[in-house]
Amino acid sequence: MNKVILLNKRPVGKPTLSDFKIVSEEMPVAKDGEVLLKTVYVSVDPYLRGRMNDSKSYVPPFELNKPIQSGIIAEVIDSKHSDNFKKGDFVSGNLDWKEYQVSSGKGLYKVDENEVKLSAYLGVLGMTGLTAYLGLTEIGLPKKDETLVISGAAGAVGTIVGQIGKLLGCKVVGITGSDEKVALLKSKFRFDSAINYKTTPDLKEAIKNACPNGVDIYFDNVGGEISDAVLSNINKYARLPVCGAISLYNNTTAAFGPRIQPIIVTKSATMRGFIVGDFFEKFPAATKQLTVWLKEKNITYSETIVEGFDNIPQAFLDLFEGKNEGKMIVKI
Ligand code: NDP
Repeated sequence: MNKVILLNKRPVGKPTLSDFKIVSEEMPVAKDGEVLLKTVYVSVDPYLRGRMNDSKSYVPPFELNKPIQSGIIAEVIDSKHSDNFKKGDFVSGNLDWKEYQVSSGKGLYKVDENEVKLSAYLGVLGMTGLTAYLGLTEIGLPKKDETLVISGAAGAVGTIVGQIGKLLGCKVVGITGSDEKVALLKSKFRFDSAINYKTTPDLKEAIKNACPNGVDIYFDNVGGEISDAVLSNINKYARLPVCGAISLYNNTTAAFGPRIQPIIVTKSATMRGFIVGDFFEKFPAATKQLTVWLKEKNITYSETIVEGFDNIPQAFLDLFEGKNEGKMIVKI
């Protein structure tokens, strides 16, 4: 039998395990024009939370009692596909949370296990790496000697943003949720400094001290009060790529904070939200650059690998508890 994870009910507030259901179905069989895929690595991502709500967004919501989907690396174990996919190939795609599934090949990309570790195609060479690179370079417009502040700094996107910022000559300051992550940012990822937002009594003051020249770029992964504290330290002509707002994803009512328009006006700042797909046409060039940096060891990455198909929902929930360093991935 084949295990599948369905959306059991729509989460209210913070998601729980009971929002998911693991069921068994008959093993699928590839028909003409199809491939049979065995799931190898599953990406769990904060944005999936938004798809669990029944609300209109840039991607349709997940349906109740239907499989959840996310970025997956799978092995082709049978192919009745005419051309492209052979048994033994590895592919990446937005696939169902199933141990085995068939696909027509649409939306699947072959990935090469000899180039980099397969899981890297879900992180640094996948959606999160592209988000980091394109959000920073297209909206953040970093210049040498500028100060770049990143929230959610020790996560999949944040760790890559910081390293690219350093490569482009910025002073890089990370904000994260534990002392271990602060240490990791400074050692492995070469951030100039990092702040633990959970233990710092006055975040606004801590950012001011860490950024004596003010903040030129704020790469925002979390929103909320952390971003309020950064905003009060921005420089004239600051750029603020708004990548995510994980601190607000589980809110059941709208959160209110300082009215930010006066700061944006008086600092002539540019605040721009984005979805990585906005830059679709730049994916090949961005992937090429990230691959070069990775191979030349100019960037590195961390992964938190959880083992076992049944643990996919818990790994997703753990994102909201900060239990990951770098990319959260489930190995099947
Ligand atoms: P991460 O790997 O950063 O994992 C989430 C991290 O968020 C946790 O480890 C935790 O770290 C932090 N966090 C959780 N809850 C809170 C909270 N209440 N306040 C502050 N921090 C919190 O995830 P990703 O790198 O994959 O994603 C980062 C952000 O980027 C998300 O908001 C995501 O939605 C967004 N995103 C946007 C994309 C786009 O196209 N715009 C594409 C991909 C991601 P800590 O221990 O530091 O608290």
